[in-house]
Amino acid sequence: MSRSAHPAGPRHADVMPEGHYSAPPSDLNALDSRVWARTVSRTPQGAVTVGGLDVRQLAEEFGTPAYFLDESDFRARCRAWRDAFGDEADVFYAGKAFLSRAVVRWLYEEGLNLDVCSQGELTTALAAGMPAERIALHGNNKSTEEIRRAIEAGVGRIVLDSFQEIVRVAHIADRLGRRQPVQIRVTVGVEAHTHEFIATAHEDQKFGIALADGQAAEAVRRVLQLESLELVGIHSHIGSQIFDTSGFEVAAHRVVELLRQVRDEHGVELPEIDLGGGLGIAYTPEDDPREPQEIAKALGAIVTRECEGAGLAVPRLSVEPGRAIAGPTAFTLYEVGTVKPLEGLRTYVSVDGGMSDNIRTALYDAQYTVSLVSRASDAGPMLTRVVGKHCESGDIVVRDAFMPADLAPGDLIAVPATGAYCRSMASNYNHALRPPVVAVRDGEARVIVRRETEADLMSLDVG
Ligand SMILES: *Cc1c(COP(=O)(O)O)cnc(C)c1O
Repeated sequence: MSRSAHPAGPRHADVMPEGHYSAPPSDLNALDSRVWARTVSRTPQGAVTVGGLDVRQLAEEFGTPAYFLDESDFRARCRAWRDAFGDEADVFYAGKAFLSRAVVRWLYEEGLNLDVCSQGELTTALAAGMPAERIALHGNNKSTEEIRRAIEAGVGRIVLDSFQEIVRVAHIADRLGRRQPVQIRVTVGVEAHTHEFIATAHEDQKFGIALADGQAAEAVRRVLQLESLELVGIHSHIGSQIFDTSGFEVAAHRVVELLRQVRDEHGVELPEIDLGGGLGIAYTPEDDPREPQEIAKALGAIVTRECEGAGLAVPRLSVEPGRAIAGPTAFTLYEVGTVKPLEGLRTYVSVDGGMSDNIRTALYDAQYTVSLVSRASDAGPMLTRVVGKHCESGDIVVRDAFMPADLAPGDLIAVPATGAYCRSMASNYNHALRPPVVAVRDGEARVIVRRETEADLMSLDVG
């Protein structure tokens, strides 16, 4: 069974089937290093610290709910990916996981490139000084304005997603007098999530141009005819929260087959291949992600073997991890507001945030863990559901969690592994004020995205 279900996966009813949750952990105070950022630990006195700072003081200073991001962990993960892939490959961080100007500077300093998929992300990247040639523009429906701004800025690549976009990008580049490097995003008929993948001939989804029926080959033909476009490679992205490289293996096989076809038909060997992102992280201790080093080795070997088989020079490889860099580096800190035992069922623990700061549980049935962090407790376990304060019964942050039975209003609890797709998907539902992101490093905490204020809300509401 999948451990973190996917958008396309099954939604289950509100009542949990028997045995869905595992037995309570032997030590409710223990912090599993697989799901917590690297500098998080519990002091002998009982409270949890990150980067050497006590969460109670952080709550005092920055309020709750808030995301606390371990900057040294984030940078270390960037370096691990960079070093694993070495000089023969490029790592593009997928900005949609979480992007801010501080993050862009860390990426720049640690030698990573950046994927953006909207004008807002492009603006953020450029504002923070990311050189345009290290930026790639993605998206299945880029506006003409987005395309124009990207070309004008000089982005390193635009990833073409449809036949219409080929013409659109070519036209805009032509008008600007530029020759724009592009890749073509192909759908290879592989859909991978968690531990399984499905290989099919066709893929029923909105992204990319199908390899099936010669569609992608036709796209290549058209791009090669357009003088304002420089076709540098083929792009494939097969899914999210993937633990296994077998799906990438099938994708690489099919992409290399296209490269061979392009060489045979046009006498051109395309110099780049991008295998996308989607590499999994541990949301719960049962998840067992592979290290960047291992992934790099496996992907490199797959691409080399496929190219040798096809008699092609090995193209430059790129990958696009988002979640695998940002996800594990942050936790969300909440204050418990109410504790409501439902006899014979479970105890509902309401926190001061919810689906507005973490939509993933409601949207994908994502699984998280949660810990009491303002103190340790000797109390026995109680089965809880951590819920938010929004007007939806589906407003669930953690569906099943064992918490100490003495949990009480005013306690601080934290949900780890919320660094990706939480703040970036946050909403103002119920006019919630979106929480800040606070970067913590070596005993210092600094707001990198401030908390929204009522003035922010009112400034958008023009009456
Ligand atoms: C979302 C996305 C990624 C990153 O996915 P993660 O699961 O965060 O690694 C990479 N490439 C493309 C094209 C994407 O759409």
